[in-house]
Amino acid sequence: MMRALLLTDYKTLSVTEMPIPEIGDEDVLVRVRACGICGSDIHGYDGSTGRRIPPLVMGHEAAGVIERTGSAVGDYHAGDRVTFDSTVSCGTCGFCRLGQVNLCDNRTVLGVSCGDYRRHGAFAEYVSVPARILYRLPDHLPFERAALIEAVSIAVHAVGRHVPKPEEAVVVVGAGMIGVLVIQVLREKGCRNIIAVDIDKEKLALAERMGAGRTLNPKHADIPAAVRELTDGRGADASFEVVGRADTVLAAIQSVRKGGTVVLIGNLSPRVELPLQEVVSRELSLLGSCASSGEIPACIDLLARGAVDVGPLISLTASLEEGPALFERLHHGDNRLMKVILQP
Ligand SMILES: [Zn+2]
Ligand SMILES: [Zn+2]
Repeated sequence: MMRALLLTDYKTLSVTEMPIPEIGDEDVLVRVRACGICGSDIHGYDGSTGRRIPPLVMGHEAAGVIERTGSAVGDYHAGDRVTFDSTVSCGTCGFCRLGQVNLCDNRTVLGVSCGDYRRHGAFAEYVSVPARILYRLPDHLPFERAALIEAVSIAVHAVGRHVPKPEEAVVVVGAGMIGVLVIQVLREKGCRNIIAVDIDKEKLALAERMGAGRTLNPKHADIPAAVRELTDGRGADASFEVVGRADTVLAAIQSVRKGGTVVLIGNLSPRVELPLQEVVSRELSLLGSCASSGEIPACIDLLARGAVDVGPLISLTASLEEGPALFERLHHGDNRLMKVILQP
């Protein structure tokens, strides 16, 4: 048996004994050493997204050590330090064969249950994952930092959808976890003119520390007008939207210049209103960006050489037993907490 943090009902988590997961021939059993609490876990915890139907062990941002391997696994061995993709892709469909594993026809996500499937995640001592989604970690990269690789990969994938030129003005709407990582990745790509937007002044302060040259707060400024003022009246060349609400999507669209590009990452709201004529007549490009596809080795490298620093994003590390209270704090919007890592 193992200890696991089980969502037994919406807003009800308990640390309980569960059987250690079975592994198939192509799977490995990972002894989880660190697993981050994601914003999507909080929105699943309270039932608002419908993607964490109880009973479920959540957790998809993890790192640990291989405990044992299935009979067909040759590349990995017990004792290897690893992280893994949050998307469990099938490896055989047309998208997988093209390397677009985030679009896999048969994909499931660790720690998600949405009606179509239930897949227990990594808020537990052990998790079973297929070897094809594993990545080896350098010895000197601590597990707590490695647990943020999945989040970094979302930012790297998003910037990969549209890489702005170094001199271009780029707006990042939302300076939470992913927003701040997008800012760091943009900096790493050479972008020097980054404008961060958020309603929380502490998040804006962090965004500034992580590389945003300017910050704007919608509580005090009309965002598109303020961006135009900072860009000689033109608007930004590109924007990255990391929230996914009607007002923030609108701000991201209205902040770019004619011919500009908007990369959409946030999707809190399933539907938002689109200013169709502005998009068409100003010939904007709207690009969706989902999870990541193959960027994890690059992310491990970014962390290992310090090009992306996740240290300031980790607010605290805690035991599995402290999980229920921490979920409650995050659910109530304690904005002193950025990333919380549980160590099962
Ligand atoms: Zn996540
Ligand atoms: Zn597939």
